[in-house]
Amino acid sequence: MDTAPDTPHVLVVGIDGVRLDLLPELHTPHLDAIARAGFLAPVEVDSATPTMSGPCWATIVTGVGVAKHGVWGNRLHGNRLDVFPDFTTRLAADRGLRTFAVGGWAPLFLAQEGGPLFVAPTRLGYVAPREDTPQGWEEADGRVTTDAEHLIGLDEDLHAGFVYLGAVDETAHFLGCGPEYRASIEAADARLGRLLAAVRRRPAYADEQWTVIVVTDHGHRDEGGHGGRSPQERTAWIAACGPGLSADAAPPVLHHADVAAQVYTALGITPDPHWTLDGSPFGT
Ligand SMILES: [Zn+2]
Repeated sequence: MDTAPDTPHVLVVGIDGVRLDLLPELHTPHLDAIARAGFLAPVEVDSATPTMSGPCWATIVTGVGVAKHGVWGNRLHGNRLDVFPDFTTRLAADRGLRTFAVGGWAPLFLAQEGGPLFVAPTRLGYVAPREDTPQGWEEADGRVTTDAEHLIGLDEDLHAGFVYLGAVDETAHFLGCGPEYRASIEAADARLGRLLAAVRRRPAYADEQWTVIVVTDHGHRDEGGHGGRSPQERTAWIAACGPGLSADAAPPVLHHADVAAQVYTALGITPDPHWTLDGSPFGT
C-alpha cells in the first residue's frame, strides 16, 4: 500500500443554535450514533462570552476565549485572529496540512462585518442564501453539504474540515422553537448523515482514522432569540467520536475552547505553548 495506515483526519460540523433539551424528542439518528460511539455532553457558554454566534464560534475554532480572540459579537471587527487563528488556518499555515471550511454565514467566510473567521484554510467555500428566510437557509445548508461532500471526497490528502449549518438558528429567529425549528434540527441531522457517508466513501477510508466533532454555539429562548444568560440560551453541547473518545470516557466538564484543542490532539499535534490555548483535549 502506498498510503500510510491510520492517518488521522478530523471533521467538525457546526450546527448553529441547537437546544440541548429538545434533542431527546427529535429524530436525529446520525447525532445519536456519534453519541453512542463517543459522547454528547453539555457545554455552558462561560459568563465572559455573549451567547452570540460570533464569539462562540470564534472560541470553538480558535481554542481561546473572547479575551484573546477579541470577537465580542456578530460583527468581528477588532478581532485578534491574526494572533489566534482558527484551526483550519493554523494547520494549513504552520503545518502544511490540507483543510477546508464551508458554510453560508458571511462573517465566517467573507471579508464582511469584520470577518472572515476562517482566514486561510486551503479550501474556503461560501454559499450565499438566496434569501434571508428559513427556506432560503435550508437551501443554502443543502448546497453547503453538497460542497462539503465534494471536498471530503475529492481531496485524498484532506486532514481537517469545518462545515457550518445555519438554518436551525435562522428558523428559531423567524419562527421560535416550535415545529419548524424541530424539523430544521432533523434536517441538519440528515445533512450530518450525508457528510458521514461522504467520509465513509473515501477511497482510503479503511486506512484512515476519523474524529468527528459536532458542536452548537448556543441555544435559544422558546420564542426564538439569544444573547442572554438563561439556561436555554447559555447551554450548548458537543458530540464527538473517534480514536480515544470511547463512550465511557465522556468528559466531566467541556468547554467550547476544547474543540480546537481536540482537533490538534486528534491529528497528533501537541499545541505550541505560544498558542496559549485556553481549551484542553476532551477528557483531560
Ligand atoms: Zn442566532
